[in-house]
Amino acid sequence: MANDLKQEKMAGLKVLFATSEVAPLVKTGGLGDVSGALPAALCAIGVDVRVLVPGYRQVIAQLAQHEAVAEFDKLPDFPSARLLSGVMPNGVPLLVLDCPELYQRDGGPYQDAGGQDWSDNPLRFGLLSKIAAVLGGSASPLNWHPDLVHCNDWQTGLTPAYLHFEPGAVPSVITIHNMAFQGNFAPETVQELGLPPSCFGINGVEFHGYLSFLKAGLYYADHITTVSPNYAKEIQRAELGFGMQGLLSQRSGDLTGILNGIDTDEWNSATDKHLVKKFSAARMAGKAADKEYLQCRLGLDIVPDVPLLGVISRFTHQKGLDLLLEIAPRLIGLPVQLAMLGSGEAQMQQAAIELSYRYPGKVGVNIGFNEALAHQIEAGADMFIMPSRFEPCGLNQLYSQRYGTPPIVHSTGGLADSVVDCTAETLRDRTASGFVFKGMTAENLFVTIRRAVDLYHDQRQWKVLRKNCMAKDFSWEASAEAYRAVYLKLLGR
Ligand code: ADP
Repeated sequence: MANDLKQEKMAGLKVLFATSEVAPLVKTGGLGDVSGALPAALCAIGVDVRVLVPGYRQVIAQLAQHEAVAEFDKLPDFPSARLLSGVMPNGVPLLVLDCPELYQRDGGPYQDAGGQDWSDNPLRFGLLSKIAAVLGGSASPLNWHPDLVHCNDWQTGLTPAYLHFEPGAVPSVITIHNMAFQGNFAPETVQELGLPPSCFGINGVEFHGYLSFLKAGLYYADHITTVSPNYAKEIQRAELGFGMQGLLSQRSGDLTGILNGIDTDEWNSATDKHLVKKFSAARMAGKAADKEYLQCRLGLDIVPDVPLLGVISRFTHQKGLDLLLEIAPRLIGLPVQLAMLGSGEAQMQQAAIELSYRYPGKVGVNIGFNEALAHQIEAGADMFIMPSRFEPCGLNQLYSQRYGTPPIVHSTGGLADSVVDCTAETLRDRTASGFVFKGMTAENLFVTIRRAVDLYHDQRQWKVLRKNCMAKDFSWEASAEAYRAVYLKLLGR
């Protein structure tokens, strides 16, 4: 009976998931991972999800088969575009927004090859937002009509605004993956993107004299979610609200924090195609071979017993790597080795490279984005370092736990929600899964890494810690259920 009721409520729950990146087709960070995995997890529990993504060159190139299902050549303010229907490698139906003049170019989704934001980003993501709203409106050209539109970050932040001004449109949810990226543009953009001038005000899309895509989403969406319960609280306060804390605290009744899951097929050390040796909690021997491979690949001394610290990160102030670089000489003396992968701010990249020159065989640095090496670091490192100043959820600390690589993290956002600090008590009750420091200082990071290194040399305890990490369930199932509950509540079902 209860099951029948659930079935009835679920019947035909249809969600359009609008996003600017989706792994493995296009990814610059956590948003890509979430957009790749959450829709699949929702499909697995019976939600009918379609993912809408821009037709960047690499997306179109990877579409095995596709057909044009809609044309948009009469939208005022926007260039002509088409919608192609395809399928993600994981089987989730895909809608690709094909507009070559906006999306088919060399470079990244948001920036050119030189790291400059594309100057037409307002139009590029204005169109993406608009099309998501058209598909959620009464004049959609598709046979498939969603019950709601789920938007993500500023790039689809205008969708809730467009939906708001369209009679008969479906409700919307927006997920904040990072408050630091807001999509703020000149006020003229309001008119250029066909929004009514009246919406440019504090009760609308305006943020300190600019049109803010993110603010638009937060103001007009029917529900807001973010990627961890702790971050949902933090963004309602001045330190991490990036100026939008007032709006978010006013809307706290409509704000839900749901911890991200991970793609447990993609991040599975027992089957990971990027590893020289697979391993699992029951058979850990392969991890030592992966460490040796990583040392070899990054030009580190091949020593089994010196703890190897891994980093995979955007090199930005947010990620707190400046603290790590500051204490690196002291760390090397413990001794430890350092394996770093990432790219970002030129100064930080340079500092990391200089460190590797100064400590050959002890510090290995790879500047760039490299999926295979990311997997190899998660597997081959002994510990994973993530001293983020703020972190909405963070995925690498979830991957590292699953790969038996205890993370060392600052107590913020999703890091605080997903890592249990190692103490005598948490080791005893088998909940310990990493090392957490409070107070964002280089000294606190150093002391915490030293604490981890001390435990590492107690191999019996270290094995317990690794086992705890690997036993944790970070699959998407529970989170997908939480999103479904948000949808059903919003629809009054
Ligand atoms: P953010 O989205 O803030 O960059 P997250 O931890 O949420 O941070 O997600 C980052 C994702 O991007 C992870 O899957 C991580 O492995 C990946 N990643 C980040 N930098 C690199 C890199 N240089 N090479 C490969 N993968 C990377």
